[in-house]
Amino acid sequence: MFEYDLKDNSLTDKVILVTGAGSGIGRQAALTYARLGATVILLGKTVAKLESVYDEIVQAGYPEPAIIPLDLKGATQQNYIDMSNTIAQQFGKLDGALLNASMLGELTPYTNIHQQIWDDIIKVNVTAQHLLAQALIPTMLKAPTASLVFTSSGVGNKGRAFWGAYSVSKFATEGLMEVIADEYEDSSLRVNAINPGATATPMRARAYPGEDQSTIACAEDIMPLYVYLMADDSLKTNGQVIKAQG
Ligand code: NDP
Repeated sequence: MFEYDLKDNSLTDKVILVTGAGSGIGRQAALTYARLGATVILLGKTVAKLESVYDEIVQAGYPEPAIIPLDLKGATQQNYIDMSNTIAQQFGKLDGALLNASMLGELTPYTNIHQQIWDDIIKVNVTAQHLLAQALIPTMLKAPTASLVFTSSGVGNKGRAFWGAYSVSKFATEGLMEVIADEYEDSSLRVNAINPGATATPMRARAYPGEDQSTIACAEDIMPLYVYLMADDSLKTNGQVIKAQG
């Protein structure tokens, strides 16, 4: 496991956007960031799930979060630009963005891949990540320092049979991260990617329906890396794909 001490005030006064904040790893990251002092912006497609995370944060007495309901499958470039401008107006800056939401699609032999599912995965896991990053960077550059974090996977640098478009989309995610990290190397923005490793979530259960999830890490276990990349201790880390369970 990546080791990092979660200190109570390590994210105080930071504004952090988390995509896919209603479920699985994103939900845990949002709760953890709020507990460590951040104001979190919860983005996701199912409003009820976002509201439940919102309520949990408020009830715990952490900084009041914001909710952005957005379906990455249907969102337009203008939607992302408007969202970034709204964040800049409301908060003045964005210190961190955890681009965590993605879709698995179907695990199937290569020649059986449905074209619609291929298109949806590329839209959500690649194009939407690019449009999010492109729209958010100007608002992130308003912060003294900022951290943009993409989410890859074990199939993001080594292809695996039956993982089709999902695997291809994670290769693209790592490429996108490297391009932006290189371009902003001398700036206040750092850009990295996390490979979470096998983690008990609804997506993992869809990929491995027969697995006993009590035998693998839970989302809380992998939070040290998620916090490290948002905290000032990672100011010099740029262009890396880091394993949360490495
Ligand atoms: P979950 O399926 O539990 O959560 C995914 C989140 O993404 C959900 O909140 C979901 O929202 C959101 N999401 C999916 N599609 C869209 C969309 N079109 N628009 C907006 N939000 C969307 O997955 P995990 O927590 O397991 O995965 C988190 C990240 O970690 C993913 O990028 C995944 O690829 C990666 N990962 C996970 C591993 C694991 O073992 N769990 C291993 C390797 C990588 P909603 O709930 O509303 O549908």
